[in-house]
Amino acid sequence: MAHEKNTPKTVYGIPASPGIVIGKAHVVDRSKVKVMYHYLISDDLVDQEVARFREAVEKAKEQLTTLKDRLPDYVKDHAFILESHRMILKDSMVYNATIKHITEDKINAEWALKKTLLDIKNVFQEIDDEYISNRISDVGNVVERILRNLSGKQQESLLDLKERVIIVAHDISPEDATELNTSKVMGFVSNVGAKTSHTAIIAQALGLPAVMGLGNITDIVEEGCLLIVDGNTGEVVIQPDDDAIIYYHERQIQRERYRSSIIRTSYLPAKTLDGYEIAVMANTEFAGETEAVKENGGAGIGLYRTEFLYLKSNGFPSEEELFNDYKQVAEKIAPDPVIIRTLDLGGDKFLSYSNKKEANPALGLRAIRLSLKNPQVFKVQIRAILRASAYGNVWLMFPMISGLSEIQAANRILTEVKKDLDDAGMDYKRDIRVGIMIEIPSAVAIADILAHQIDFFSIGTNDLIQYALAVDRTNEDVAYLYKPFHPAILRMIRQVITAADKAGIEVSLCGAMAGEPCCVPILIGAGMKRLSVNIQSVPLIKKIIRSISLKDAESCFEDIMKLTTANQVEAYIKAFMKDLLPELGENAFI
Ligand code: PEP
Ligand code: MG
Repeated sequence: MAHEKNTPKTVYGIPASPGIVIGKAHVVDRSKVKVMYHYLISDDLVDQEVARFREAVEKAKEQLTTLKDRLPDYVKDHAFILESHRMILKDSMVYNATIKHITEDKINAEWALKKTLLDIKNVFQEIDDEYISNRISDVGNVVERILRNLSGKQQESLLDLKERVIIVAHDISPEDATELNTSKVMGFVSNVGAKTSHTAIIAQALGLPAVMGLGNITDIVEEGCLLIVDGNTGEVVIQPDDDAIIYYHERQIQRERYRSSIIRTSYLPAKTLDGYEIAVMANTEFAGETEAVKENGGAGIGLYRTEFLYLKSNGFPSEEELFNDYKQVAEKIAPDPVIIRTLDLGGDKFLSYSNKKEANPALGLRAIRLSLKNPQVFKVQIRAILRASAYGNVWLMFPMISGLSEIQAANRILTEVKKDLDDAGMDYKRDIRVGIMIEIPSAVAIADILAHQIDFFSIGTNDLIQYALAVDRTNEDVAYLYKPFHPAILRMIRQVITAADKAGIEVSLCGAMAGEPCCVPILIGAGMKRLSVNIQSVPLIKKIIRSISLKDAESCFEDIMKLTTANQVEAYIKAFMKDLLPELGENAFI
């Protein structure tokens, strides 16, 4: 039910990206096509309904051909998925069966198609075979495409907005987020999603305030109504009255003032009161952000999430495209390092044109697993990274390592690519630093073993928390269990630092935790010398480091390690931060 006009109403969700915006709502449909109408048709309309179905199938064929044509040669391997979708369109179990339902049951095409899908599922449901269940999921995708064509609905592109708006959507995928045109999109709110989802990470990178996990915001907001979105507190005010507008406008101004006062100090080194320097680096997702890293005082790029270039493209980017992108970043950020992470596709970041659906994507064919399964694609990226290493201080990092054999397999491919470049007489940094992300509990447990294989660790707490506490990082319903202060997480961090120190390799932390003000004393107290945070947070994190001595941070960490619950840790650190930087107020807390 739509919210009654002119009545202010405040709803609360998960604060996903900070900042306050006031603007007009634009409700977009990013959900699956729902078959709203099941209706019977009269005899004289049967031919017309069959023709409507045939037309939708023809259109689907054309769409699949266009998609296939966009794939560059070296990923033609993936085209089999699109080819299999085209075959399904012609399969009599789908095509003829649907026409039969329309003509014999005298029902509309959408209903007939749904019945066909159900029949297919019923026939195969008894068979416990991965191949069959994948084919059924392919049929589901094809049916979805035909339904969309029948409804005449195309996914609305978020690039085509005419005026500045706040997006209201059921879900915004990371792929959608890469499409957001920041000159038109002021911020967004969504029914689902949580703070460390990749959609939230993109919103933070783009500086777009966002509130996620609101449940039913698409049902209660009308197109064009006024909204206030507070990405710090998770509040969304629908049809605010004048008092609310004035109140939030003032908070917006105060926040901006505080931010600019901190940005003015961003060039100062991140040195503790007792003289220890911590490298505060930045996480980036696009080459275009490199300038902002420097402006905000970042000591290089501690994590370059390369998958967004793939999500943005209409096919896998070529080696030249990747090389130019990485070279540009390496040159701009030099002499500081850029840590280029190889593809972390899968999980909540899937390619609409390539990946098949998985029941548990976070535990599925994600990141290094996907790369090792597609060595052609992996090699192209590694070649591009190695070639770019000749132009700056490039480090190479593999994501989602769960054990030794994955490092060995990735290193084997790296060696092969180096040899290819040598044979071709191409320049690259021969002793490029190679590291891994520690984001799976198994890697923590054997960090001492893994440390001897590589040059550095980077702890990815976004995933480490997800996997260690069994909490889906994108699921708003379990977001209350997603606790960086959980003693298990703090112990894991300590264990990784100890293993790295013993092996004499570098260790950094690049999960969102590093950018949370109240985590800084804990992390540097634990011995972390390198943090990588979202660009906007760099100046504040540096300021906090300048306000504390390493000695005090260490005793803070020691105290915290004696505590037994996340709530106790939170209470301790809240009191600690209040003493340390009272002016931070609510901005200090997660
Ligand atoms: C992490 O998991 O903490 C991380 C930094 O990587 P991503 O957020 O891209 O999964
Ligand atoms: Mg991760």
